[in-house]
Amino acid sequence: MYMFSTSHEPENPWFEKDQLAATMRDRIAGIGGLVGELREQITDDSQVVYKPMEVLFVDDPWFKGRVILIGDAAHATTPHLGQGAGMAIEDALVLAEELFGDGDLRTRLQRFMMRRFDRCKYIAENSILAGEREMARDAGFDRVGLTKAMLARTAEPI
Ligand SMILES: Cc1cc2nc3c(=O)[nH]c(=O)nc-3n(C[C@H](O)[C@H](O)[C@H](O)COP(=O)(O)OP(=O)(O)OC[C@H]3O[C@@H](n4cnc5c(N)ncnc54)[C@H](O)[C@@H]3O)c2cc1C
Repeated sequence: MYMFSTSHEPENPWFEKDQLAATMRDRIAGIGGLVGELREQITDDSQVVYKPMEVLFVDDPWFKGRVILIGDAAHATTPHLGQGAGMAIEDALVLAEELFGDGDLRTRLQRFMMRRFDRCKYIAENSILAGEREMARDAGFDRVGLTKAMLARTAEPI
C-alpha cells in the first residue's frame, strides 16, 4: 500500500531527506485506529516522497491560433479524486475526434472546449474541495458521496 497525506505547509519549506519520516508522522499525529497503527511504521526516510502541490485552471479558451493546451497544462488539480490522468486522456481523445470533424480549425477547437471545459472544471474544483476538507479533518464532509457523484459524472458521455 501507499499512504497519501496532504498538509498545509506555509512558505513552502524545504524538507531534508533525513526529516521525511518524522515529518510525515508529525503531520498525521493524533489520528487513531488503523491510520495511527500504520503511522508508527513510517520510519524509513527513503520510502517517503514529499512534493508541494500546485493547481492551475486556464480559462476558456485553451487554444490560440493553432496551439492548444490539454491535460495538466490546462487543468492541473490535486490528486484527491484520482482523475487528472483520466481527464488528460479524455482531452486527447476528444481533440482527435474534433480535429477530424467539420468546419474550420477554430470551430473544431471551440467544439472541443464545449465538450471539455465544464467536465474538467468539475473535477478540478471538487478535487481541491476534497483536499481542503481532508486537511481540515472535517468529519462531516461526505467524501464517499462526492466520490460516487464524481464516478457518476465521469461515466456520462462526453
Ligand atoms: C500524487 C499524485 C497521484 C495521482 N493519482 C492519479 C490517479 O490515481 N489517477 C489519475 O487519473 N491521475 C492521477 N494523478 C494526476 C496525473 O498524474 C496527471 O493529471 C497526469 O499525469 C497529467 O498528464 P499530462 O500528460 O497532462 O501531464 P504530465 O504527466 O505532467 O506530462 C507532461 C510531460 O511533459 C514533460 N515536459 C515538461 N516540460 C517539458 C519541456 N519543456 N520539454 C519537453 N518535455 C517537457 C514532462 O517531463 C512530462 O513528462 C496524480 C497526480 C499526483 C501528483
